[in-house]
Amino acid sequence: MSKAAKILPKPFIAYSRKNIINNRIVNTLPKDMVNEILAVSTVFPFRTNNYVIEELIDWDNIPNDPIFQLTFPTRDMLEKNDFDRVNRLLNLNAPEKKLLETVRKIQEKLNPHPASQMEMNVPVEDGEMMRGIQHKYEETALFFPSQGQTCHAYCTYCFRWPQFVGIDKLKFASSNSEQLVNYLTKHPEVTDVLITGGDPLFMSSKLLRRYIEPLIKKKPGNLSSIRIGTKVPAYWPYRFITDKDSDDLLRLFEEVVNSGLHLAIMTHYSHPRELKPSIAQQALQQILKTGAVVRCQAPIIRHINDDPELWATLWKVQVKLGAIPYYMFIGRNTGPKNYFKVPLSEAYHIFTKAYSSVSGLCRTVRGPSMSCTAGKVLISGIADIRDKKVFILKFIQGRDPKWANRTFFAQYDDDACWINELKPAFGETEFFYEKQLLGMKAKQPHYK
Ligand code: SF4
Repeated sequence: MSKAAKILPKPFIAYSRKNIINNRIVNTLPKDMVNEILAVSTVFPFRTNNYVIEELIDWDNIPNDPIFQLTFPTRDMLEKNDFDRVNRLLNLNAPEKKLLETVRKIQEKLNPHPASQMEMNVPVEDGEMMRGIQHKYEETALFFPSQGQTCHAYCTYCFRWPQFVGIDKLKFASSNSEQLVNYLTKHPEVTDVLITGGDPLFMSSKLLRRYIEPLIKKKPGNLSSIRIGTKVPAYWPYRFITDKDSDDLLRLFEEVVNSGLHLAIMTHYSHPRELKPSIAQQALQQILKTGAVVRCQAPIIRHINDDPELWATLWKVQVKLGAIPYYMFIGRNTGPKNYFKVPLSEAYHIFTKAYSSVSGLCRTVRGPSMSCTAGKVLISGIADIRDKKVFILKFIQGRDPKWANRTFFAQYDDDACWINELKPAFGETEFFYEKQLLGMKAKQPHYK
């Protein structure tokens, strides 16, 4: 704490499409590049901040720098035709309405609602949709506090991008903490709540307390763990050190731990650079001192982290700093997926190479895993069975708990990037769970 106390507070400055040009560093980029950022950010959300710009991006390596790719939209994230359409309208200074119409058409083509989140995960109680809650796996409920539906910076590959550009109109958000308590009371099967966003740690500590305190005091149902999904330790570490309510936040974490509930901060680190600044390391230490556990996860993304040595370094640094490597995900099939996608076979080889070069303490990590409609599916292996090259797949989590840990096989395909591009390996017409999944969908009252 003595070291952390010496750090001066840093005022948070957010940059978006509207003001990015005011940033003194961005202002020195070639004009074409700036125009491309402005064009692509009409379609995808764009938000970064002064810490990411000043401390994380290597401006001598633009546009290839991975943290630049992580937070700045670039031309190839859009299909050429779509980029040209938007760019033409901007050059013509077209009316806002016309621009928005075109942008919406492009956005709708980009699978804005992946993995049937809206259709299948939002519970209905007494005929009312519990907006703000998602309940996909029996033991875990997700809660989306409405004031936490933004982030200190946006990841260009974020699968929740539709929420940030207004397509979703914060469909998943709730400001009603009582609703969550009531839901947990009625659902004793839920042991874990994941508070997520956006980024719930974007909220003030006071607001966050409003959601968490009732859980600590009432311990509804069989609640035993609170998880908070966040990228703040990477994007704005000052949140835990010098922001005006940093101490309140850490105190709240301590209260959760002292109440007997397990607190897991599910931190999203995409690249080892995010853990390099001393302030980022100190932020992690501050969290750990509260008794919370930090588990780390990120998707594998082309242009950002598609490299085994990088993942090995990331896991090693996490362990050294006291955090637990948790997941390598496959990027979801939404938004600029063509730009970012890494085929399943390549992701598997990258994971395996990284995994085989680290010690057992790093091997708490699981992956590569797809979070798809049926559940979390792991690419567990590639093998030759009955003279056929196959993917060995395994459910880590299933929409039906009986699917968990079940292995199944798909035809090997060099190019496949998502489960819907895979076929059963041995002549079956569908994977074992598909009929049941269809039945589950049909039972959803709001499934369209
Ligand atoms: S921090 Fe998380 S929610 Fe926010 S943009 Fe990145 S991936 Fe999406």
